Amino acid sequence: MKKITILIPCYNEQEVLPKLFPRLDKLIKSQNRFDWELLFVNDGSRDQTFEKIKKYAEQNKAVSYINLARNFGKEIAMAAGIDNVKADALIIIDADLQDPPELIPDMIKIWLEGYDDVYARRRSRAGESFLKKFTSSMYYKVLQKSTRIPIQQDTGDFRLLDKKCIKALQSIQETNRSTKALFSWIGYKKKEILYDRDPRAAGQTKWNYVKLVGLAIDGIVSFTTAPLRVATFVGFLVALFAFIYLIVVFIKTMVLGIDEPGYPSLMIVILFLGGIQLITIGIIGEYIGRIFVETKNRPLYLIESKKLK
Ligand code: UDP
Ligand code: MG
Repeated sequence: MKKITILIPCYNEQEVLPKLFPRLDKLIKSQNRFDWELLFVNDGSRDQTFEKIKKYAEQNKAVSYINLARNFGKEIAMAAGIDNVKADALIIIDADLQDPPELIPDMIKIWLEGYDDVYARRRSRAGESFLKKFTSSMYYKVLQKSTRIPIQQDTGDFRLLDKKCIKALQSIQETNRSTKALFSWIGYKKKEILYDRDPRAAGQTKWNYVKLVGLAIDGIVSFTTAPLRVATFVGFLVALFAFIYLIVVFIKTMVLGIDEPGYPSLMIVILFLGGIQLITIGIIGEYIGRIFVETKNRPLYLIESKKLK
């Protein structure tokens, strides 16, 4: 019998868990030709999430859990889960029922046809603002232009991964991880499956724009070093422009004898160049900061308690 693990990262999800459990139960019952494991990763929740998971584990033998020492963020919570998976396939799903578990049988079907990474692509995104959708689509475009790795658009972490992919992900232990970048990076045979993303069933989203911008920068920096190249190009461009300007000024003053007003043009050039230099230093800093964190070589996460099937 093939073993399938469902990985569910949870952070303050007490409202939604009572809705999630019956839907998972139903799924497992309808697919009883597999050996199921429900692996909950409690990401340092401050509400009754862990108590609820523990109680569920007492009732249901398929339930495993990992209780992290504090809130590490979803990316790391997923890493903790992935590291502890021993299964033929792994399905990652949000706790808030935005990813319908009812899609899982279709994913399994495609997996059994021989695909290694069946990812769910959002056909629609109910309950999300226009701004969020627009920025997200722009972001994908920029990202895709800057790297040779094919990036799956409108895809979250909801996917089924074969044993091969699990092993590949377990071998990656970088601290600054953008899981999405890793899913693309590992490659293997991918297949998309379309679905309508539901609004959150209960509780509150943990994301805000500050966090999202952080995630977007993490995504770019861990996908590609293209921003460094852009900085170089901009440097050349500015130098070229300055050279042309120099010739113009030279001809105007030396050949034609026209006075060149100094202060405003100087001010503009200084501020413009200062801005570009600061941005460039910032870009370099993003990479250096990551080198710093990476060289400290700390463990990715700390586990307080766990029960694995
Ligand atoms: N999550 C987590 N740790 C965090 C934040 C979120 O494990 O620090 C989990 C959360 O419990 C949920 C999933 O990540 O299962 C997605 O979070 P959320 O629904 O808040 O994000 P959104 O769907 O709005 O992008
Ligand atoms: Mg959500």
